[in-house]
Amino acid sequence: MRVLIGGGSGFVGRELTRLLKSKGHEVTIISRQPGPGRITWADVESGGLPPCEGAVNLAGENIMNPLRWWNDSYKKDLFSSRVDTTRALAQAIAASSSPPRSWVLITGVACYKPSLQSQYTEDSEWTPFDLLSQLVKEWEEAGRLPHSLAQSTRQVVIRPGAVLGRDGGAMKQMLTPFWLGLGGPLGSGRQPFPWIHVSDLAGIILHALETSSSPPSTQLEVFNGVAPALNTNYEFTKELGRILRRPTLFPVPGFLMDTLLGSERAVILMQGQKVVPKRTLESGFQFRYPDLTSALREIVGG
Ligand code: NDP
Repeated sequence: MRVLIGGGSGFVGRELTRLLKSKGHEVTIISRQPGPGRITWADVESGGLPPCEGAVNLAGENIMNPLRWWNDSYKKDLFSSRVDTTRALAQAIAASSSPPRSWVLITGVACYKPSLQSQYTEDSEWTPFDLLSQLVKEWEEAGRLPHSLAQSTRQVVIRPGAVLGRDGGAMKQMLTPFWLGLGGPLGSGRQPFPWIHVSDLAGIILHALETSSSPPSTQLEVFNGVAPALNTNYEFTKELGRILRRPTLFPVPGFLMDTLLGSERAVILMQGQKVVPKRTLESGFQFRYPDLTSALREIVGG
């Protein structure tokens, strides 16, 4: 299968590319920069969709970029890098004379309202309640294909929690303070911490690309991209400290995270959602790293 991956040069895209190539699939990345194995967003706009059987969008300005201050220009980039690239790909698919069999969009669990009690599955109703949930709404809407493609193209949305892996994402930023013995629970630590190992996220994307829906539907098929373990931030912190053999004694106060990240962004870490991968499991996907111990051991050794 030929797979086109918007934003495939990033953390998740590198893992997905490795997995697809190991199964004999061909990968073309859409990037802002030209290069071998790549086309640019301008190429898609001017030349349309290259021949492919699967299309994925992973493009997006890094939401946890520690070097960017939380201001209007950053928020605008977070929206446009996701919504505009998704719309460009959806429009190119709609205009193609041979559209792909599957169109897979990766968004996030920020659509579910943070809560200590509620549990969310893919069937949970939601409406936007803050900036990040509004982002998910606009992002997923931008990916919708016209009804005329219902018979030909399967539309999938995968909503991941924090993606954990060795060479990017949240772990890259967390490991240094933990190694220095400065890691600690965020706030009370009671907030849920939805997470997934990057290799399982790549696996769910491949699963979505390889399986076909029957009957074809105009509905988006949603899969929660989270491990089934349902951990809190406290459990995550203690397990990472245990595996690294480092103390995790001092809680990080909420006001410090609000000051460093901006309160609208700090929500991701200071609050959280209990997200269940109900449909992901029902679809037959088997997690390689369903629990924190196996995931963290793979990432940091131990
Ligand atoms: P990365 O931060 O690695 O970025 C992916 C790619 O997006 C980059 O390689 C880059 O490609 C492209 N990109 C970055 N900024 C822009 C921009 N301003 N305009 C257009 N393209 C841009 O993302 P991940 O691989 O970590 O995540 C993939 C997707 O999954 C993202 O949409 C993210 O929001 C979502 N997600 C990720 C989570 C995580 O923990 N990592 C959690 C939940 C959701 P290039 O430079 O080649 O153009």
